[in-house]
Amino acid sequence: MCPLARRSFLIGGLGLVGAGAGLLGTAGDAAAVTSPEIIDCAGWGARPNSDVVPVRSQRPVKIIVHHTATPNTKNLSRGAADNLARGIQNFHMDKRGWIDTGQHFTISRGGFVLEGRHRSLEALRTGKRQVEGAHCSGQNLVAVGIENEGTYTTGAPPGRQWDRLRQLCAYICEQYGIGATEIYGHRDFKDTACPGDSLYGMLPRLRGEVAGALGQAASSSALQLASWPLLRIADRGPTVLAAQHLLRAAGERDVVADGQFGRSTADAVRRLQTAHSTEEVNGMLGGESWPLLVSVADQAGDADVASAVQALNAGRPLSRSLRGPADWQQLLDPNTPR
Ligand SMILES: [Zn+2]
Repeated sequence: MCPLARRSFLIGGLGLVGAGAGLLGTAGDAAAVTSPEIIDCAGWGARPNSDVVPVRSQRPVKIIVHHTATPNTKNLSRGAADNLARGIQNFHMDKRGWIDTGQHFTISRGGFVLEGRHRSLEALRTGKRQVEGAHCSGQNLVAVGIENEGTYTTGAPPGRQWDRLRQLCAYICEQYGIGATEIYGHRDFKDTACPGDSLYGMLPRLRGEVAGALGQAASSSALQLASWPLLRIADRGPTVLAAQHLLRAAGERDVVADGQFGRSTADAVRRLQTAHSTEEVNGMLGGESWPLLVSVADQAGDADVASAVQALNAGRPLSRSLRGPADWQQLLDPNTPR
């Protein structure tokens, strides 16, 4: 299971989401957003947590979407949802050694919403407190984690699951005062395929639908978010070429810059991950390793850095200089206008 691991959709040409269908007219109408039914820990038969669950007097500022990387079951029943929640808790407590379920909420393929870690629902109802989770290290105090049952490498979540995800996100945003654009995927922060290429690709749509539910206006570019591309074995193209140049600048001189992510590139990423003690050492270049790579490469001030820039900018140098990871992130984002 994914998080469990320890360690585009454009709103077509409208520009503003919620501008149609009179949604903007409901702006500020809190009554429009209601909580989906949420089954609490007692409801699905959770074990007691093995230690005190830390509850902080602060609001989370974002939501992180995961998939469980479990089979796409056809059993959409309440019983299956309860079993899923118990299975995840057992896995997290017995195999990971955690005090309780890692994520705050779980949504089954049948569309049942369940509390994950104890007290998450109570904290959400207050709108003022955050349970410290264990779904994405570095983000557990600031992000609400939602696990969606299934593997969404390809294929979309069933309609009921999607509807509940939208409702739950809208309710969390409403309760904590979080903007709809602050919905992320696990891979935005870690070197992981979670929440799957398909579900990750649906996040702009999710942000748009949540913005609509909240009566928030958001431009289509804001819904896209600049993020780090996830690169893996068998990927190819200019982004891979740029990554290879950056790896070379970072000291990996044996990497051949050919635009094809093969085993030697993955091995170089593994060494980078090992050197920086990232959560995963898996050869995937994602949200945790990219900022490390661009920082190390920048410091080297190497000719390969210029080649990386050109690879991302249609063979041309940039007219401005890059100032840190955020600039690189923008340059790597295929949605950034050139
Ligand atoms: Zn995840």
